[in-house]
Amino acid sequence: MLSQRGMMQIVSSPGEMEMAARMVNAMQVNGVQAELLDRAEVQRRVPIFNFAPDARYPVYGAILQQRAGVARHDAVAWGYARAADRFGIDIIQQCEVQAFLIEGGRCVGVATSRGEIRADRVGMAVAGNSGALAAKAGFRLPITSYTLQACVSEPVKPIFDTVLVSPMTGTYVSQSDKGEMVIGGDLDRVPSYGQRGNLPQLETVLSGLLEMFPVFRQLRLLRQWGGTVDVTPDSSPILGESPLAGLFVNGGWGTGGFKGIPAGGTVFAHILATGSHHQISRPFDLSRFRSGHMIDEAAGAGIAH
Ligand SMILES: Cc1cc2nc3c(=O)[nH]c(=O)nc-3n(C[C@H](O)[C@H](O)[C@H](O)COP(=O)(O)OP(=O)(O)OC[C@H]3O[C@@H](n4cnc5c(N)ncnc54)[C@H](O)[C@@H]3O)c2cc1C
Repeated sequence: MLSQRGMMQIVSSPGEMEMAARMVNAMQVNGVQAELLDRAEVQRRVPIFNFAPDARYPVYGAILQQRAGVARHDAVAWGYARAADRFGIDIIQQCEVQAFLIEGGRCVGVATSRGEIRADRVGMAVAGNSGALAAKAGFRLPITSYTLQACVSEPVKPIFDTVLVSPMTGTYVSQSDKGEMVIGGDLDRVPSYGQRGNLPQLETVLSGLLEMFPVFRQLRLLRQWGGTVDVTPDSSPILGESPLAGLFVNGGWGTGGFKGIPAGGTVFAHILATGSHHQISRPFDLSRFRSGHMIDEAAGAGIAH
């Protein structure tokens, strides 16, 4: 399913190289495949990177995860939908949840644009809309919604067969099967539900790209889009029952919910089926924000938000 040969994180200083070695060690100790590349090896694998002596971010090496890569998200979503359908699950499209049905202090269903749906347990997995829906249920979540944008260039012949990330610029890039360069970067730090991104943020991302790949300066952008991501204070998801009994939350996946959901969906299914936590989901309960037992795994997730 992965269409790229590994994921490479560029290292731009001797100090970072030491941290990179620690990260690689930590991953290997935990059975995750990872290796540390020196500058010559990066140059061999990605010759079009900026290796000029006056490059703003010199290359000292890179972390390579050979098994990482890009998965076709639409194919994955349709795969899940077809499998769910085979299990007899109804998927109702164009159906907005407008209110929660509450009886005796307990959530007993939802009122939607196409009528009421009642259930013993209700699961909510609406990512960037988690805060807005929680408000309809009468509670607040420690989730802030931000816009994350991405863009693709016009297609070109294959020149690049890895996913490359620069922690210095925050920019990441890979080449799609169709030849487009797929480019993304940091969040727009202004909380928003706007699914369109903005020009200043796009310029920041693209200037990072051109620092790394001056060769891309002639590329034209084909399209750009923004999506709403749901960010928690400890960069970790929220799984479990909400303050409204009978209503369960799966959210706060931020910018990592695509890769996280095979595990997140499985444990959420367990929670909905049994009404109690799976041993993996227990630490991710909403109550951690009251007790102070935050999950110190933001670095482990490999994302900054
Ligand atoms: C530009 C961009 C790049 C990203 N890159 C990566 C990446 O490289 N790796 C990674 O792991 N993750 C990435 N992510 C994050 C990832 O896309 C999300 O974490 C993931 O899609 C969240 O999945 P979800 O099922 O929780 O929510 P979503 O996929 O957002 O689905 C939520 C659904 O709820 C629906 N909904 C909302 N409100 C209502 C309502 N009132 N009634 C009914 N339905 C409602 C929405 O229409 C939507 O269909 C990226 C996100 C963006 C925006």
